[in-house]
Amino acid sequence: MATTFPLPPGATIGILGSGQLGRMLAIAAARLGFRVHVYDDASGPASDVAATQTVASFDDPAALAAFAGAVDVVTYEFENVPVAAVGHITATGRIVRPGARALEVAQDRLVEKTFISSLGISVAPFAAVDAGSLASAARTMADWCGPAILKTRRFGYDGKGQVGVGEPAGLAAAWDELGQAPAVLEQRLSFAYEVSVLVVRGADGATACYDVPENEHGGGILRVSRVPSQLTPEESREACDLACRIAAALDYVGVLGVELFYMGPKAGSAARFLVNEIAPRVHNSGHWTMDACAIGQFENHIRAVAGWPLGSTARHSNVSMHNLIGAEVNAWPELAAEPGAILHIYGKRDARPGRKMGHVNRLSPR
Ligand code: ADP
Ligand code: MG
Repeated sequence: MATTFPLPPGATIGILGSGQLGRMLAIAAARLGFRVHVYDDASGPASDVAATQTVASFDDPAALAAFAGAVDVVTYEFENVPVAAVGHITATGRIVRPGARALEVAQDRLVEKTFISSLGISVAPFAAVDAGSLASAARTMADWCGPAILKTRRFGYDGKGQVGVGEPAGLAAAWDELGQAPAVLEQRLSFAYEVSVLVVRGADGATACYDVPENEHGGGILRVSRVPSQLTPEESREACDLACRIAAALDYVGVLGVELFYMGPKAGSAARFLVNEIAPRVHNSGHWTMDACAIGQFENHIRAVAGWPLGSTARHSNVSMHNLIGAEVNAWPELAAEPGAILHIYGKRDARPGRKMGHVNRLSPR
């Protein structure tokens, strides 16, 4: 039977993936009275808080069809969900939000950069790298007159699947280091700082942006997001406008994360912001919204997916969000005792180095 939207409380939202993002989505969904059914190839942090879980491969059409039949709408919490898996779900008539197009674009850095450029939005200078284009990519790099970064087109995250390239002569060795996987070479930029836009787009095309956080990375992993950023209000509007254009071009429904390099006030307006990458899901740099905003990114994603009106993205406090990475989570007793620290722990059993284990939000008056 065709689903009618808005979904009423009591309906079931299916989530592909069971990581911490799925966990926080499931908690937000539960607050609105929804049931959550997660689907993943292994149990994860979301499994502990979902009403139902399916553990099956993303290559299992029968399991995907059964999942589709058990839920009212489907969303996903990680961008490497195979596009074919989404196809098996939509073939049953079940709606997936955001759809397959956002996955196709975000899963491949070359497709992503080409798509964003086609909207007239700037990205870092880049060149495709494969066996046939290695030499021309090295020549392109020579024109940049500076260092570059080689990134695999697919499956990179938290700085994984990337190597620095000091000079064009080092490109072949860098590509070997990546196992000669299809890759993108991009100029290493000297940006002023990094920001991101969390935009939510409803099923009716309405959009709302959160205030723009300023993001600090260490070793390729997000460490801290702070709001407000140093951007002027006008610059913030410009960043939000870019993100809204991307969301509209993807006919997107849900929260979209857009990572941006801010090149500084002196950069010409066409090159003030360069899009680094997009994430077709809730985003780590938006984890502060759950405590500093009327309605956080997780609830707004669920609202959009369920066909509800978007909730207010207004921010009531200044905030800094610190990720707890690896053994940092072992400081939970001190954090729990720290006045005003709002602690979120994802329930992962093994605090491996580099693994996101939780985060802490610290509010201050606006
Ligand atoms: P991931 O998918 O791992 O998040 P990113 O492309 O976002 O990959 O890279 C991670 C981080 O590495 C970025 O947030 C930024 O700090 C740094 N970085 C990536 N690309 C560049 C670049 N072209 N110039 C300078 N720093 C970069
Ligand atoms: Mg990134």
